[in-house]
Amino acid sequence: MWTSVPWMPKTVENGSDPVTIVEVGPRDGLQNEAALVRVADKIAFIDRLSAAGCGRIEVSAFVSHKWIPQLADAEEVFAGITPRPGTRYSALVPNLRGLERAIASGVTEVAIFAAASETFSRKNINQTIGESIRTYEDVTRAARAAGLRVRGYLSTSFGCPFEGDVPVERVIDLTRQLFELGVFEVAISDTIGVAHPGQVRSMLDQVTAQFAPRTLALHFHDTRGTALANVLASLDYGITTFDSSAGGLGGCPYAPGAAGNLATEDLVYMLHGLGRQTGIDLNALAGASLALEPALTHRLPSRFVNAFRSHRVASPPDRG
Ligand code: MG
Repeated sequence: MWTSVPWMPKTVENGSDPVTIVEVGPRDGLQNEAALVRVADKIAFIDRLSAAGCGRIEVSAFVSHKWIPQLADAEEVFAGITPRPGTRYSALVPNLRGLERAIASGVTEVAIFAAASETFSRKNINQTIGESIRTYEDVTRAARAAGLRVRGYLSTSFGCPFEGDVPVERVIDLTRQLFELGVFEVAISDTIGVAHPGQVRSMLDQVTAQFAPRTLALHFHDTRGTALANVLASLDYGITTFDSSAGGLGGCPYAPGAAGNLATEDLVYMLHGLGRQTGIDLNALAGASLALEPALTHRLPSRFVNAFRSHRVASPPDRG
């Protein structure tokens, strides 16, 4: 049966705390897209995301353009967006040089990214885990001295594409090291999308015994179709911050053709159905993703966006 309006979830109450979504599409998503999206299209996308109510947006990364050509325009993007009161805009910084560029662009929140696997750390940032922590110690100290907030990512926390299993003890140890550097939040990240709810529960049993759930974020990928189930499991542990990517932007660099980041629309649909507030207007968010889609080389993978698209096409008022 076709409906003339996009379907919205029927709310069934499940907890009352609002959920914070960190929208990583402009950075984590576009970094992993084949297309080089024009600066103007990125700026329009980010402004639509903030207008849709996204309260935290990871805009770009201040890394070498040789390293990530998709994000070589970080300065221009930050200069072009129209800051919305109440939205926090952030950027990844790998080192002090990146931090200097971020500060020069007026950025007030940066993120550092460590890995829970030695092999992944060497291949991703060409440093051992220990070397990266020493680098980030300097970055975090300088950032906080300049009045910036610093977020920490811990990638490959649920598994490594080169080493396989990652011990929970190592995740806990590195999460502690990141907090000791002075980050306000650690995003425990499933970089290759292998986590499932059983593993999430097993990990959070141990991790939330050590750290307050409100200081943690979970960053899931939907590579194997488990991302929403993982979020649902995490909510039971009091986790209230999740990363996701509008439209499901960005594939999985370790599994060509497979899904990467959890799509923000799919996450918001589930959360609103559970009665959890996100501050995000789901229709406006899907509209932001669809407006960007022509700049990409493929259709967006978000399930919600594709249902939304079908409903709009089938809706008589939209045909004319
Ligand atoms: Mg990701």
